[in-house]
Order: sequence, then C-alpha cells, then structure tokens
Amino acid sequence: MQDINCGNITGFASLISRSERIAIVTHMRPDGDAMGSSTAMYHFLSMLGKKNHRIIIPDPFPSYLDFLTSGIPSGAISAHSGDRTGAEEALAGSDLIICLDFNAFHRTDTLADALASSRADKVLIDHHIGPDRDCFAVSFSETEVSSASELLYHIIMEFPQISGDASRLPLSCAASLMTGMTTDTNNFANSVYPSTLAMASALLAAGVDRDKILSELYNRHTESRLRLMGHMMKDLMVITEDGVAYIVLDSKTMQEYDVREGDTEGFVNMPLSIEKVRMSLLLKEEEDRIRVSIRSKKGTSANRCARMFFNGGGHENAAGGRLNKPGDIASIEEAAGYIEKHTHIYLTEHEDNE
Ligand code: 5GP
Ligand code: MN
Repeated sequence: MQDINCGNITGFASLISRSERIAIVTHMRPDGDAMGSSTAMYHFLSMLGKKNHRIIIPDPFPSYLDFLTSGIPSGAISAHSGDRTGAEEALAGSDLIICLDFNAFHRTDTLADALASSRADKVLIDHHIGPDRDCFAVSFSETEVSSASELLYHIIMEFPQISGDASRLPLSCAASLMTGMTTDTNNFANSVYPSTLAMASALLAAGVDRDKILSELYNRHTESRLRLMGHMMKDLMVITEDGVAYIVLDSKTMQEYDVREGDTEGFVNMPLSIEKVRMSLLLKEEEDRIRVSIRSKKGTSANRCARMFFNGGGHENAAGGRLNKPGDIASIEEAAGYIEKHTHIYLTEHEDNE
C-alpha cells in the first residue's frame, strides 16, 4: 500500500467537521466488507461527536451480518428498496456523503441517480480498480489492500483523535473493521498484505474479540446451506477442458434448499482448490437476470472476463456481473452453453493479450 495522502486526510477531516448531516453509502447487495466499513464509519463519526449521520444502502444486507448493527439505532440504517423516498430525501439533504467499497455510482444500483444529483460533497474510500475520481471531492483509492475496511482503518489511524493508537477506537468500530477485512480476505486466505496483518494485530491488541466475530460469521448457518453446498459440489459443478469450473443454481434448486441472501457466500472459491481449475463461476438465477460470481487463480483475470462477457467487473481475482434475460440468454437453460463458449473464447483469445 502506498502512503495515504495526508492532504486527503486533512480534507476529509475538515469535510466531516463542517458537515452536519452525513450519509454513509455502500454498494448493492452489501457484503461483510460493505457493512463492516459502513458500520465502522458510523461508530467513528459518533466518536467524533457527530449527531446526525446514517447508513443508506441500496437493498437489505444478509441477516448473518445483523451483529454488525447492534448498537446502531434501527432508524439510522435504511435500505432504498424498503423506503425509497426516505433514502432519497436523506441523500438529497446530506452535506456529506461517504462512499465505501465501490468505485462508481452505478454499483449502488437504484441509488446511483440520487447520488449523482445530490449536491453534497462526496468522499470515496475504496479498493477496486478504476475509481470514478471525478465524482468525488476527496478520494482514497488503493488496490493493494485487503478491503475497504482495511483502507478505512489506515485512514482513521491518521486522524489526530486516534494518532496511530488503535486502542483509542471505539470497540464497535474496531470490531466492524476486523469483520470487513475478515470476510473480504476469506478469513486470511486471499488479498493479505503486510498492512493487513499489521491492522489485524493492532485491532486484536486493542481488544477485538475475533473468536466472537468468527463464530458470528461462520458458525451460525442453517443445515440446508451445508446440504446445498454438498449438492452443488457433487451434482452441479461442471469442469471444462479449459479448466473452468462452473455451477448454475436455478431458482427451483434455491427454493428447494431455502437459499437466503448470503447463503452461498464463499462457495464460488471452493472449485479453485482443484489443481486443474483456473477460474470458477457461480451463477444464480433471479427474476430478470442471472447473478454471476467469478474467482480466478493468479495469472487468470476474473476481472477482465467479467468485464468482457458478464457485464461486470471487480478485482483481478474476484469479480462479478450478470447475464441479462433475454439480452444475453433466453433462459437459465442456456447459461451452461453461454459460459462454456465465452470462457473458452476468453481463455484462448484474450487472456494475456492486453
Ligand atoms: P461477489 O462474487 O462476491 O458478488 O463479488 C466479487 C467482487 O466482484 C465484488 O467485490 C465486486 O467488487 C465485484 N462485483 C460483483 N458484482 C459486480 C457487478 O455487477 N459489477 C461490477 N463492476 N463489479 C461487481
Ligand atoms: Mn470490499
């Protein structure tokens, strides 16, 4: 990670101190890093004496992340999908909007227009490739960090109120940061940098209960989730001659196993444990589209494949996107053919050519 620009820190701190109403926004289908960084930001603003700040998300977060929001009044978190007017009015009435864990407004889906039209100052804190810097008064963008939560940690540590001493952080803020980093690294499996371990060490020393976080994140699943995982790996996973593993989850199967938001978190990584697999895709059928998650081993770019053939993007080895129905495929039955054809084209014609 490069040094965080001190001018930016001063600029961010002064925007916070002169703003009364502050909104914290993160990407659609918020995951652990999105909610971890957002709730950490919320607690840090409270510590700075702010009284009127709230988290606005495009759609609800999965229930396994509920523990992150204990200690935050329920009225201070709103999902646009549940209260369109409330969320839009809150954005329009904000003096400052802090954008976490996304690089461009469109990643907030239905909130994108409200963000673009809001006259609030906007600050970006993100770790994706290719940030839309022009949209922000101040932007912190680092790709050589594990997560938005880690980047936020390094920023917060520079504030004079903290001065590099993690024990000065509210414990709820520290725990949220640890959670976001833990989920984005897949519990220290990927994207771990020296700065990531330094952060983890400081947060542990500051009293974060990592055992509790791990048990919240990984030991509270339903039985049907594990049975679904077995079914997916045994019966649904296909491996192509190019070394692409893919799994298509149709809505019938998801109903059968009572799949809730967040239930398939992490499953897309599993096929990468097979030696011959260089890229893994998980497709989940939704009403009007099919969500795509892509992971790749070093040397293969999930990000480029997502951008070229799956209407998406992300990080080098962890990306996502969608297939539109009927734009890309007429029905879920065509998904397997689409994947096989396009990953073959990608790996034989485009990989290593840019
Ligand atoms: P996941 O597979 O966990 O949903 O997403 C992995 C990563 O891919 C996320 O960190 C996110 O950055 C990126 N990603 C997921 N879906 C999309 C998408 O539709 N568009 C873009 N640009 N990135 C996505
Ligand atoms: Mn992230």
